[in-house]
Amino acid sequence: MFYTISETVEALKSGKTTSVELVKSSIDTFENDKKSEKPLNAFLEIYDDVLELAKTCDEKIAAARADGSIEKLYEAQPLFGLPFANKDNISVRGKKLTCSSKILEGYVAPYNATVINRLVEAGAIPLGRCNQDEFAMGSSTEYSVYGPTRNPINRDYVSGGSSGGSSAAVAANQALFGLGTETGGSVRLPASYCGVYGLKPTYGVLSRWGVVAYGSSLDQVGILGHTPADIATPLSVMCGTDFYDDTSADLPESSSLKNLEAYKDFASLKIAVPKQFEEAKGLDEDVRKVFEDVKAWFTSKGAKIESVDLPILDASIASYYVIALSEAASNLSRFDGIRYGAREDNGKGYDQLYVDTRSNGFGPEVKRRIIIGNYVLSEQFSGTTYKKGMSVRARIQREVAALFENYDLILCPTCPTAAFKLGEKYDDPMAMYLSDLYTVFVNLARIPSISVPAGFTSDANGKMPVGIQFAGKMFSEAKILQLAQAWEEDHAGCGVPVKK
Ligand code: GLN
Repeated sequence: MFYTISETVEALKSGKTTSVELVKSSIDTFENDKKSEKPLNAFLEIYDDVLELAKTCDEKIAAARADGSIEKLYEAQPLFGLPFANKDNISVRGKKLTCSSKILEGYVAPYNATVINRLVEAGAIPLGRCNQDEFAMGSSTEYSVYGPTRNPINRDYVSGGSSGGSSAAVAANQALFGLGTETGGSVRLPASYCGVYGLKPTYGVLSRWGVVAYGSSLDQVGILGHTPADIATPLSVMCGTDFYDDTSADLPESSSLKNLEAYKDFASLKIAVPKQFEEAKGLDEDVRKVFEDVKAWFTSKGAKIESVDLPILDASIASYYVIALSEAASNLSRFDGIRYGAREDNGKGYDQLYVDTRSNGFGPEVKRRIIIGNYVLSEQFSGTTYKKGMSVRARIQREVAALFENYDLILCPTCPTAAFKLGEKYDDPMAMYLSDLYTVFVNLARIPSISVPAGFTSDANGKMPVGIQFAGKMFSEAKILQLAQAWEEDHAGCGVPVKK
């Protein structure tokens, strides 16, 4: 298996490898892993037609090499023959989709999500679906009906969530890049825990058509990869307006994503570090140290860093959970035992069918959230909670947008801690929710942010990866990816400085 997309493409073009070989290597690692004592459990399933699809790609590649049109082929379809990891909440026609929930047992997606269509048009091959927290609710991929996904760096630790399966698959070299989804950090958080790059794009840049909704005003597909360029290429083929999603939007400057260059103009770069995050109580000392290293790197490149005071950020977790859970309660009402997946019919009429299906189909965390969401939306309380949550969100959006009039980047850790041990926070929802302390403001403000693998915790804490976020203003994906590329060129390999 090759490490990056560009290396793999070169190997495919020259015949050094084939798409079948790539797929076989993923299948082998998947099968071997299942037998291991502590299986990763990243993929839930490798799709049954991957080898067939890879074979067809190989035939076209061989023909193009023979008639001299290989460069043209890759210009038109930059991901030709490359398998990628999918998340279990993104539809692939004819394939199972369960959101790692019992309630969707047996459900088969009738159509492709737009992001899948666009990747397939670019030549990529959906390799399989990956584990996640049930309905993307969680921060550790422990809330899955299929059991947790372990962290490939140390299998006693969580992979992060909710896109822990895709993230672990990429980190363990079972896939070159992966799709995840974000509502409040579900791509950046596992990226940070597993030591890979993870991008949450601007709201709307990737279509949500065919992606199972959690909190629709926050949801966004995200990308996991080994390098910023490995994120930029899939982003460039997937982004842009979609007839089926009215909230979708074009990404200006998407052409600069194709051959991603490292950012150079550091002298004019102004970076904001929110005081609220630096002073937050739960910030782990090892994470703080890595964060200081990243700040020092930016300063050494000539950038200017200033601490900014944004008191509203202290309310971001509260606002996020009010809004996300309200939208979740509403979105998940469609799982009624009639329309999708599993049905529990004890012959006592529709009302009981609905109650039985949902009682047996949803896991405890999803139930907790549906109950809180409905409580928040009830007539009696919506004024004091839901509306307040919404006004806090409006302020976050306004104040973050205003900040970007003076600054190019918000810099902060991705999570207050590195990956924790399996089971450590499983029964403590508040502790789990606080993992999202630094990520949710990004979704509330609808801006893009990338988690960059920036270093490790100390030996005493298991030497686990630590991610730092580069967040930019809306539609500044190209810029934050170029900045991440500059970081990558100086630090390839999880924040380990490159010897020059
Ligand atoms: N951990 C957050 C939650 O549980 C975010 C999840 C997500 O981004 N899908 O809501």
